[in-house]
Amino acid sequence: MKLDILAFGAHPDDVELGCAATIAKEISQGKRVGIVDLTRGELGTRGSAELRDEEAAIAGEILGVSIRENLGFADGFFKNDKEHQLEIIKMIRKYQPEIVLCNAIDDRHIDHPKGSQLVSDACFLSGLLKIVTELDGVQQEKWRPKQVYHYIQWKNIEPDFVVDVTGFMDKKISSVMAYSSQFFDPKSNEPETPITSKNFTDSIEYRAKDLGRLIGVDFAEGFTSERYVAVENLSKLI
Ligand SMILES: [Zn+2]
Repeated sequence: MKLDILAFGAHPDDVELGCAATIAKEISQGKRVGIVDLTRGELGTRGSAELRDEEAAIAGEILGVSIRENLGFADGFFKNDKEHQLEIIKMIRKYQPEIVLCNAIDDRHIDHPKGSQLVSDACFLSGLLKIVTELDGVQQEKWRPKQVYHYIQWKNIEPDFVVDVTGFMDKKISSVMAYSSQFFDPKSNEPETPITSKNFTDSIEYRAKDLGRLIGVDFAEGFTSERYVAVENLSKLI
């Protein structure tokens, strides 16, 4: 199945927090979007890998993604090496996305910049003919996505461009809240973490509002781009 956009996240919930509204908007406009999580988030202070599997499935349904896979890499300890790059190359060649979305280039959690660079490197390597991969016994064709964009997570990173996601924030919040073990829950008896505070949950909306304010809309999500952002003509930037 060919996809238009493939979004990678080091942990289930990274994609939702970083770019769920953009994904929901793309899907509403007929694009086919998939999510690949690198780990099951088994080192998360709250919840368990099994619980996060269930939450990720629900979040994916809310967004309407065509596929969601989990590569089962080791949370906290996966590396940007040949073994891990090849597993990501297999996903890129399997779904042949035009655009790849991946983790923030710099962040509080060490897996985020690591996953960001790993996916970015794999996107390049996937276009090389002499890297041979097989899926289900069938040799895959080389494939390089046209663009790799990085969403923004914990740290405030200056975006290279922002997407107007007005009208899609409810879906984003619902998909994030599907991870009920991870975020603000006054009834939870589990330990507090940086992402369980009410302020963090509120920040999902106030960051989007602030980015929206800067471009004159209600809500926006920001991205950084590895390449120059090119447009067909000046009117497309209006
Ligand atoms: Zn994460």
